[in-house]
Amino acid sequence: MKKIDILTIGAGGGAYPAAFRLAKAGKDVVMIDSKGIMSGNCLAEGCVPSKALREAADIYRISKKVGLFGLGGKVGFNYAKVVEHKDRIQKIRYEQHAKELKEASKHLKLIKGVASFLDEHTIEVETEKGKKRIQSRKYYNRQRCRCSSTTYKGC
Ligand SMILES: Cc1cc2nc3c(=O)[nH]c(=O)nc-3n(C[C@H](O)[C@H](O)[C@H](O)COP(=O)(O)OP(=O)(O)OC[C@H]3O[C@@H](n4cnc5c(N)ncnc54)[C@H](O)[C@@H]3O)c2cc1C
Repeated sequence: MKKIDILTIGAGGGAYPAAFRLAKAGKDVVMIDSKGIMSGNCLAEGCVPSKALREAADIYRISKKVGLFGLGGKVGFNYAKVVEHKDRIQKIRYEQHAKELKEASKHLKLIKGVASFLDEHTIEVETEKGKKRIQSRKYYNRQRCRCSSTTYKGC
């Protein structure tokens, strides 16, 4: 069984900055995340995609007032294109995170899988290739954000 210094459950914004610092300080750190990438819900469903959509909505709202400023023209609305814009931003950030992880300390590893405690020092990780067990001296549990989805008229 693999033995390490620190294991984080989740690799979101709450966990990965700590994981990077600890690994840089020479600790053996493993992050377990079911998404298999850093950033957690902030990038998947939270801060980033919501701001990309809000920004597009804001620009559309302002565009309706351009006549007041002596400007002309009409900005069209295409929800599929707005979602494409959001997806593009997420893709850029995912690629940046993948690069950061690749360039990180050799002490840091990310495993894609779902973690559960077997006892206070042992974690079982369910990966696509099967189950593996890891023993860690300390744990950092950041599996916090729970998102729910809804549909809006016109989407
Ligand atoms: C719509 C929306 C907009 C938001 N906007 C902002 C904003 O503008 N600014 C801001 O500061 N915050 C914002 N937030 C909040 C922000 O997303 C959260 O505070 C942040 O993601 C919490 O980080 P975290 O690392 O604690 O948890 P999370 O981001 O939830 O990361 C936890 C990770 O752990 C994984 N995980 C969970 N359980 C397990 C397990 N058993 N095994 C393996 N992996 C597991 C999850 O898949 C996830 O990737 C927003 C949230 C939402 C929903």
